[in-house]
Amino acid sequence: MPKAVDEFDLIRRYFSRPANSPTVVAGVGDDGAVLRPLEGRELVTVIDTMVAGTHFPATMRADDIGYRAVAINLSDIAAMGAEPRWMTLALTLVEADSQWLATFAAGLYEAAAEWGVALVGGDTTRGKQLVVSVQMEGDLEPGTAVYRSGAKPGDTIFVTGTVGDAAAGLGRLSEDTGDDYLVRRFVRPTARVGVGRALAGVAHAAIDVSDGLVGDLCKILDASGAGAELDLQRLPMSKDLLAAVGRAQALEYAMGGGDDYELCFTLPESELPAAIADKVTAIGRMTSESGLVCRDGDTVVAVDDAGYRHF
Ligand code: ADP
Ligand code: MG
Repeated sequence: MPKAVDEFDLIRRYFSRPANSPTVVAGVGDDGAVLRPLEGRELVTVIDTMVAGTHFPATMRADDIGYRAVAINLSDIAAMGAEPRWMTLALTLVEADSQWLATFAAGLYEAAAEWGVALVGGDTTRGKQLVVSVQMEGDLEPGTAVYRSGAKPGDTIFVTGTVGDAAAGLGRLSEDTGDDYLVRRFVRPTARVGVGRALAGVAHAAIDVSDGLVGDLCKILDASGAGAELDLQRLPMSKDLLAAVGRAQALEYAMGGGDDYELCFTLPESELPAAIADKVTAIGRMTSESGLVCRDGDTVVAVDDAGYRHF
């Protein structure tokens, strides 16, 4: 199949930028990459797969698809408190369109460059739909990884950025709204790597908000064997979200919508690192009673762990 070989040589060419890192002995081009981990550090490894039509609309721009595939993995690395280092890319293509690939690679390398993570290898296959899988490693000082299981009663619960934007953005994506803020929040999530690094060895528990704030916070509660009270009036919501859908719907998105890739974490309020204080909002506290209580002013709002309100 000489034609296929040419195509895949072409693909490899788009993903062979030099790594430029002393931690990469050999990157793309051989049977495997050879890496040089920093001495004495622990490795964190994550993987996230995006299937067209399931995890993102097939009509999304190629550079946004590339950017997002990297950003959602950076987010998992950040939630562990690690420094991102290396990644590999498994790409399943319906067809090898060189323009599409060049644009996809541009978005992918843009996200990688923001945090100095090196693409060191991958695999390219043909299939019935577009699938983008990125696997990433980061490292940290031994014993400083932040787990879901360490939250303690009395901890304050914080979240980075704003929540709910991406769920609203996804709903508007099909309208081809170009540079609509909410759409950008879905297609190019901001990985909170700097905050995650500041939390290493400091936060009691952390998770990145991919499925929705309430549902993801419940994973911390389950893993930590504790409860929490959430103050819905403190949930950080963007002006754009409130203007687009009004407060009631914004709150639904903020609680139950996914894809924001913000970090939710817990620690005693006095231990919040000063360097990240202006990047986070206190939204509640951990309690010793099991379960999650959400308050909207004086009203207690019943939620299930998908974050949807019961009426
Ligand atoms: P092999 O047959 O030995 O598995 P491949 O022909 O699949 O090797 O790939 C050759 C080189 O190109 C390898 O270094 C591999 O890591 C890299 N590579 C293939 N596809 C990609 C991709 N989508 N992104 C980055 N590197 C890739
Ligand atoms: Mg081989």
